[in-house]
Amino acid sequence: MVAQRIKDIPPSLTIKLTDRVRELRRKGMDVLSFTIGEPDFPTPPHVVEAAIEALREGKTKYAPSRGILPLREAISRLYQERGLDFTEKNILITTAKFALYAALQSLVDPGEEVILPDPCWVSYEPMVMMASGRAVKVRLDPLEEFSFLPEKLKEAVNSRTRILILNTPANPTGGVLRREHLKLIADLAVDHDFYVVADETYEKIVYEGEHISIATLPGMEERTITVSSFSKSYSMPGWRVGWVAAPEEHINDILRVQQHTLTCLPPFVQAGALAALEGPQDYLNEMVKAFRRRRDKVVEGLNNMPGVTLRPPHGTFYAFFHYDQPVPSMDLTETLIEKARVALTPGIAFGEGGEGFMRFSFAVSDEKIEEGLRRMRTFFEENF
Ligand code: PLP
Repeated sequence: MVAQRIKDIPPSLTIKLTDRVRELRRKGMDVLSFTIGEPDFPTPPHVVEAAIEALREGKTKYAPSRGILPLREAISRLYQERGLDFTEKNILITTAKFALYAALQSLVDPGEEVILPDPCWVSYEPMVMMASGRAVKVRLDPLEEFSFLPEKLKEAVNSRTRILILNTPANPTGGVLRREHLKLIADLAVDHDFYVVADETYEKIVYEGEHISIATLPGMEERTITVSSFSKSYSMPGWRVGWVAAPEEHINDILRVQQHTLTCLPPFVQAGALAALEGPQDYLNEMVKAFRRRRDKVVEGLNNMPGVTLRPPHGTFYAFFHYDQPVPSMDLTETLIEKARVALTPGIAFGEGGEGFMRFSFAVSDEKIEEGLRRMRTFFEENF
């Protein structure tokens, strides 16, 4: 017995892949994995200290469901600096992944349509299904920062469109949308009266151009639910802390989902998050510098392999490269593991629009990247 809404959710290809690599390693095979989506840097020590101190002070009970006030105030200032008229009332502290789930739960009625980028992060579609919505995938343009193909996007919008999920900087593509890309979406959202759920989880990891929040575009403040996270920016994925920034009425709706599910985020976790935002930012800058150095290495290395093309990712720590062979990305993944002993994520894991691509995460050490590229080069020279 399983509910229909859950029955149709496919198992995660990425988790299957991680399990396979783990098994091969157990058998003694030396496989280098570039599949992970978390920074390899430790959480900044002052953040860890702040959480320990909070624990010692006895901050071990329930916190307010919305999140602790100083943290909500600090986050609201980030949006004030971008010109939004937000206060702590516009902020809810929660896990980024849960924020996306709760936003969809609070906005989508059965059968309503949610536009998704194709390719996109693996969890959006299952979240739409859990909200009993209908996912409508729109192909992206690899030549334009993997923004929506304008004609395809216009065709996808109709009277049932309730939400468009936007992710910039994007996983898996590394694309950072420019103002003109965002304007196209904003104009459609205003004209057709739909919401944008803006996933800005990678907002701090940008190498070229700048990160722009779509909520800052004309007419968008009242129709954007922005989600962000401490996971990637401050190397805190295991802390499970992020936030939602939205008009107050939507925060209150999402709050009801949180009150009856998670209740709240642990208070000591929130104390760590506050230290991350308010403490020194040099750690973050150093991390982005290291990612940039690795990105350049990966761009050069991959583009020197026969049959491989990579447009430099402008953000995130993912290189989404195209390969020039009519081989399904899942098969190429298997072959790369067996012959090159390198594990990458197949583009198909992110949707049909990802076929013909592979995702290489460079959130691993320089040495590992160099060795991985060496192995891949030998493979591509022999097989492509
Ligand atoms: N959104 C995107 C695009 C992601 O890649 C991830 C994590 O990998 C998340 C959201 C979830 O972030 P968190 O782990 O902070 O909940």
